[in-house]
Amino acid sequence: MDNFATLLLDLNGLAVVSVEQLKDGTRRIHLATANERARVCPACGVVASRVKGSAITQPRDLPYGEHGLEFRWHKHRWYCREPQCPRKSCTAQVPQIPAGARITARLRSAAGRRIRDAGSTVIQTTRDLHLSWPTVMDAFRTAAREVTEEPLPEVQVLGIDETRRGRPRWDQDPATGMWHLVRERWHTGFVDALDTGGLRGQVEGRTAADVLAWLATTPRTWRKSIEYVAIDMSTTYRAAVRTGLPHATVVVDHFHVDHQ
Ligand SMILES: [Zn+2]
Repeated sequence: MDNFATLLLDLNGLAVVSVEQLKDGTRRIHLATANERARVCPACGVVASRVKGSAITQPRDLPYGEHGLEFRWHKHRWYCREPQCPRKSCTAQVPQIPAGARITARLRSAAGRRIRDAGSTVIQTTRDLHLSWPTVMDAFRTAAREVTEEPLPEVQVLGIDETRRGRPRWDQDPATGMWHLVRERWHTGFVDALDTGGLRGQVEGRTAADVLAWLATTPRTWRKSIEYVAIDMSTTYRAAVRTGLPHATVVVDHFHVDHQ
């Protein structure tokens, strides 16, 4: 079932059977399953061999062309032949379109990356890609985890600095009538001051305890790799570094000296 249309579409495990053009210009692509692996039961991993029925799904994909594409995937429903399997039947799935998915994996990933890497908002992405808010938010969480769960790269010179962000928020205790700060407007940022200047961490607050709390979440070996810490003339940060990174040399960074 290899043909040029299949090659153009680039969806592993699926083959283009035919393409029709609708009155509004949309091209409707009829797809068939082209890979035996699509018949693997998602619950038990056994390859199914007996057809139970058929189904047509309409997974959405990345936008393409002025009039867009829409899919009709004609697929089989299979009996699972594994007696121990909790599922009695399953439908075909391919890596880009898991069973039950209404959008392709590449569309989901593009939605998440728009927010993570391209500065788009969730709302803007829902409009651009015609997706729902929960779908886009979920895609963004997945994309964000790919970055935040990566181990921290070693840092030779750690920069610690305060940044002001948003407005503080106060809440009144109904019992005592006293006001409490519930959201700090000051944050502390941790950057790789020598290499890329990339942000390695950011926490709310700017006290020594805030800095120490963040350092405590980092691996010991990572802290050991820090040789210098660049800070402004803040005595708070200096105290935090003495406690949390006793082996590191404190340097006052140029930017702050020049502007004092
Ligand atoms: Zn099964």
